[in-house]
Amino acid sequence: MSEHVTHWIGGSRHEGPTERSGDIHNPASGQITGTVDLAGPAEVDAAVAAARAAFPAWRDTPLSKRVRTLFRFRELLDSRSDRLAEIVSAEHGKVLSDAKGEVARGLEVVDFACGVPQLLKGDFSENVSTGVDSYSIRQPVGVVSGITPFNFPAMVPMWMFPLAIACGNTFVLKPSEKDPSASLMIAELWAEAGLPDGVFNVVQGDKVAVDALLEHPDVAAVGFVGSTPIARYVYRVAAEHGKRVQALGGAKNHMVVLPDADLDLAADAAVSAGFGSAGERCMAISAVAVVDSVADDLMERIRERVARLRVGPGDDDRSEMGPLVTREHRDKVASYLESGVREGATLAIDGRVHPVLGGGGDGFWLGPSVLDHVEPTMSCYREEIFGPVLSVLRVRDYDEAVGLINANPYGNGTAIFTNDGGAARRFQNEIEVGMVGINVPIPVPMAYYSFGGWKESLFGDSHVHGTEGVHFYTRTKTVTARWSDPGQRPEGGVDLGFPTNG
Ligand code: NAD
Repeated sequence: MSEHVTHWIGGSRHEGPTERSGDIHNPASGQITGTVDLAGPAEVDAAVAAARAAFPAWRDTPLSKRVRTLFRFRELLDSRSDRLAEIVSAEHGKVLSDAKGEVARGLEVVDFACGVPQLLKGDFSENVSTGVDSYSIRQPVGVVSGITPFNFPAMVPMWMFPLAIACGNTFVLKPSEKDPSASLMIAELWAEAGLPDGVFNVVQGDKVAVDALLEHPDVAAVGFVGSTPIARYVYRVAAEHGKRVQALGGAKNHMVVLPDADLDLAADAAVSAGFGSAGERCMAISAVAVVDSVADDLMERIRERVARLRVGPGDDDRSEMGPLVTREHRDKVASYLESGVREGATLAIDGRVHPVLGGGGDGFWLGPSVLDHVEPTMSCYREEIFGPVLSVLRVRDYDEAVGLINANPYGNGTAIFTNDGGAARRFQNEIEVGMVGINVPIPVPMAYYSFGGWKESLFGDSHVHGTEGVHFYTRTKTVTARWSDPGQRPEGGVDLGFPTNG
């Protein structure tokens, strides 16, 4: 059955005609499974207008009532998480267990947002001057928008909207047009949880919808997660239009393996973090910088593990890795195997010949691949591949590995594998990357910390969720107050001097 995915505006599906639409695929079969409406400025305007109309009442809804709605949403999400994971897997291609993991990590942000009363508490100072008190309050910013990538169609939106809504904002989500259905299921869960109409809206679409949001005068803040060129563009255009912006970009995550590392642990980590979700994770390991003396040994262990990996459709319980998201993306990722060899790397493992459970049909398949003897000048190293291709660089020592990472324009995640506490401590101090793992390959922070990279992996100054998320979705107001008290009237009447705290 072909799905028709449309917008969610003001508490219901948008039933109007659409001028443009796109195809939705099942990446495992290559078949078209539905169509998605692509919003123009009129639909974006309608979604922003619904969010704007809902804002005053939602902002003034008592905190305890807002939180009760969040708890209901949390329970619904938890009880329907398997269905949401199925939807994610069908359109993205990732295996079901991985999709369940994505929903679980999103749920953790909802858990965190349920504690928002504690997070929104301001400060109070008594007697900053005679009979004068001063206090700060955090208020929502208004209509906020989230523009999200294809690779986590449930989790990345949940990095944003639970806190935004908990803080009293209203939200317009623009999900990826490649896997849009999860956003509609989430909207339905919100409605069932009793969220007032217009507080959470979804516009499906592409660049046209994004541009309309970035330029819309009634959108106060834009959260973006996607590739670096688009993150840079979103940051610039939204800032030019006076909005606060956080724009998370792409990545090239390195894993350093020192000679004293547990090589089995390191090989498990390289394979899990390199090929989980077919490498389509912003925290995937894509480059392994291994010290020469243990490089052959590590490669051998990686080879053994890759040979056992089961690649197949996301809904087949046996599958550990699914297809890539589109045919074009698969072809682009595979092209790095050719360019890598042309530029002098060794194709140690060729994923194009890896067997696919059930044969693969016309799906967008590429098995786990490893390029060895990669050099920093090669395009497979310089560019973000975002697929199941590990680049192995052999380095002399710790210093060369750190120099490599710090010279890389991206700074999302990294990991070091060592049993030397001193080296690990030096690494966490010296490395210019936002999220660091020590013998942990995908160091994705928990919801109560904030997630974000450095350098070209993030434009803006605040990371998502955790306390930085609360700051992003609120503005501080500081009040200085004096109440009439006959015993504490200021002396002297009119005084044109600059007020001091006497
Ligand atoms: P993308 O940049 O192509 O798309 C992201 C969003 O921007 C989508 O909603 C898309 O519709 C929109 N978009 C695409 N082209 C646009 C344009 N020209 N103008 C305006 N909007 C546009 O990213 P993707 O392919 O969906 O996702 C993969 C990328 O996201 C990778 O680079 C990955 O590293 C990155 N990512 C980063 C993080 C992080 O936390 N830093 C997390 C997940 C994904």
